[in-house]
Amino acid sequence: MSIEKNPVPGLYIHIPFCLSRCAYCDFYSITDTGLIEGYLHALFKEIDVYRDDFSTFDTVYLGGGTPSLLSLNQIETIMEKVHNVFSIQQDSEITMEVNPADLGLADLKRLRGQGINRINIGVQSLDERELILLGRRHNCNQALRAVEDALKAGFENIGIDLIYSLPGQTLSNWHNTLTKAISLNLSHLSCYELEIKPCTPLGCRCENKELPVHSQDNLREFFMSTSEILEDSGYIHYEISNFAKGMEKASRHNRKYWDHTPYLGLGPSAHSFKENSRWWNHESLAEYVHDLDNAKPPVSASEMLGTEELLMEAWFLGLRTKRGIDLKVFQQHYGCDLMKEKGPALKELAEAGLIIIERGFVRPTRSGMAVCDALALI
Ligand code: SF4
Repeated sequence: MSIEKNPVPGLYIHIPFCLSRCAYCDFYSITDTGLIEGYLHALFKEIDVYRDDFSTFDTVYLGGGTPSLLSLNQIETIMEKVHNVFSIQQDSEITMEVNPADLGLADLKRLRGQGINRINIGVQSLDERELILLGRRHNCNQALRAVEDALKAGFENIGIDLIYSLPGQTLSNWHNTLTKAISLNLSHLSCYELEIKPCTPLGCRCENKELPVHSQDNLREFFMSTSEILEDSGYIHYEISNFAKGMEKASRHNRKYWDHTPYLGLGPSAHSFKENSRWWNHESLAEYVHDLDNAKPPVSASEMLGTEELLMEAWFLGLRTKRGIDLKVFQQHYGCDLMKEKGPALKELAEAGLIIIERGFVRPTRSGMAVCDALALI
């Protein structure tokens, strides 16, 4: 439910390489960095596939995987190719995810010179034992050094990712990490609840009862205290897992995923969305390369979303954001008067303190965000 009439799409590039696999991760990535050149070759072909379907972007996001495993020359060639084929607006937000172990001050300065203006550092925790539990390949000092170097390199828009509710983690352990993160005075923090995936090493250890998992009540306490502590420290809790020092520092790129703005995702496993169509690439580098070598888009599957599905998504995604749902825009886009259709249920939620209905918006409260998946089911 984009608020703009002709929203400018975002471009996501998935770089599917990691030096080692983290213990909690079930994203698609591979550890054979010998395949990077072949991947780049295929990526450039995929960029050409979309030269007529997409023309202009105002956000570019290099995510992974671990984009900082690529050499600076390789990043430069990706950005050159993107600029040659598409028009990247002057004031675009250009983000790159980095692992704290990978880049020094000189590298970060060079990236800044290449036009990358937002850095997202995968810190995850500022507790050594937790980093080991997560199987991260960096330590706390490297994380703090990466932040310091990014600041010295001239990045004004720096975000870090953190994870809470690790097996055995106490609220006090988490608050220690949070306090250290706040003291860095960065413009953006993402705080994700750890999702325990059964197929991961960490998931197996939990399943074998080797590690304890948190109760729903504990998880709620992690969420509520994170929101309270960060809002008291001047951050806006603008999406369930995201906090920014002012809305101008909120991730422009990620907001496109939440309001049906079109986006193009390139690379293995990347998803795209345009008009009412969504498609996603093979979750396999070999299949991705094979299709592009045969002049075929490397698409694994696609779906057309009907008005009802788009409406349900807009409702679900809107309830994950502090901005909430603009009732008028919702009616214009999806032909649904929410107050008419769901008036009594919305009133009940407002009385329970889970949403606020004001000035033409339905917004989740902090307690509402904590249970937003259930809210969306009314
Ligand atoms: S660096 Fe990220 S993508 Fe790679 S294994 Fe770790 S969590 Fe997964």
